[in-house]
Amino acid sequence: MSDLRELYQQVILDHSKKPRNFQKLEGANRTAEGYNPLCGDDVTVYLQLEDNAIRNIGFQGSGCAISKASASMMTDSVKGKTKAEAEVLFQKFHALVTGEEDRTDDPGDLGKLAVFSGVSEFPIRVKCATLAWHTLRAALERKEETVSTE
Ligand code: ZN
Repeated sequence: MSDLRELYQQVILDHSKKPRNFQKLEGANRTAEGYNPLCGDDVTVYLQLEDNAIRNIGFQGSGCAISKASASMMTDSVKGKTKAEAEVLFQKFHALVTGEEDRTDDPGDLGKLAVFSGVSEFPIRVKCATLAWHTLRAALERKEETVSTE
């Protein structure tokens, strides 16, 4: 288990140092901002939504390694998905990091997002890990106001 944990930490570190899709997306038709005052993380998510599917996605922001890695992996995970599929993924991810995962669910569904399973042991980090996802959701729902995890 400690080997797995080390691997997970390496993946998170890698994504926080070299975030994927870390750019303001030209041609975005949805954007939302999120802020986690507990940690000082902020993120802006840019979406190009077409026919209810996420054609392209980018993000910008600053914050701790967890929030950045989570945003990076979130963008990788939802690119090409429909709104409904992204929502399902959000629910599963949320259950994972809050430790409310339904054990009968196949954790394989989450793919590499499973690296965030350790976050459930650190409640203060849950908001860091879910910030980008809440912001994605706001962008999909076209809420204009800034999302706060508080
Ligand atoms: Zn944070």
